[in-house]
Amino acid sequence: MYKSDYEIKKELCEIGRRIYNDGFVAANDGNFSVKIDDNTYYVTPTGVSKGFMTPEMICKVDGEGKLKESNGPWRPSSEFKMHLKVYQERPDVKSVVHAHPPIATSFAIAGIPLDKLIMPEAIIFLGAVPIAQYGTPSTMEIPESLTPYLQDYDAILLANHGALSFGCDLNTAFFRMESTEFYAKLLFYARMLGGEKEIPCGEVKKLVELRKEFGVPGKHPMEKLCPGCYAGDDTCSMSPTDANEKYGVESSAAYHGFQPLPSQVCPTPSQSPDIEAIVKEVTKRVLEQYNK
Ligand SMILES: [Zn+2]
Repeated sequence: MYKSDYEIKKELCEIGRRIYNDGFVAANDGNFSVKIDDNTYYVTPTGVSKGFMTPEMICKVDGEGKLKESNGPWRPSSEFKMHLKVYQERPDVKSVVHAHPPIATSFAIAGIPLDKLIMPEAIIFLGAVPIAQYGTPSTMEIPESLTPYLQDYDAILLANHGALSFGCDLNTAFFRMESTEFYAKLLFYARMLGGEKEIPCGEVKKLVELRKEFGVPGKHPMEKLCPGCYAGDDTCSMSPTDANEKYGVESSAAYHGFQPLPSQVCPTPSQSPDIEAIVKEVTKRVLEQYNK
């Protein structure tokens, strides 16, 4: 169905209100976009709360993120580079959403990927959510950090930053952001209750089959999860994490060598200037002057 410019802009404003009211962003944070064709995108403006956008604020940009039409004082988000990377590598994607949902972002800060297969809905509709290496916002570091994950996932955590989700339309991309936060919440609560129990590989396989039957669009890493299981062993009872360890699954976050930022090292007392030595040197020089 063809949608007018105005309808698309209105939808972006509506999703902005939901993201803001859900507490997935604070102040002017977050950005999202819709692809029309390879050289036409609608993207949210920078420096504006996503909860209070009106259609005229939405920017129309080209395949390099440059404004196609002058747009009053509003400029496109500087994070659009990150969206473009997704559009370039995933032709099936027509919308990208970036936000900072608090529990999922806490996992991204703690360096814990959402890759435990713990509930059927999350497995069928979301898959798993890895963490991309930390990068400075608005530089090419973040887009480049996404590359290892784009072919197997529809949502990615950004280390010490937030989350990115994408899909065949704006609603799908937004729902994946909601599902990511919900999944993070469940994993967090389960860990407070003593730890999650993963659904075994053989059962995950059935859920992946259901996903196909339902015609869920997008990518799912789990077909690669347990090669033994996919070779025909329907009774595989390994947990996905064990299978991951045994087979070294290419799509896992660990396989791509995710490393949290090295922790900052505070100067220890031995590294601080040696006050005693300085006092000694000053005294020596004063005495030298005095004795002249
Ligand atoms: Zn952000």
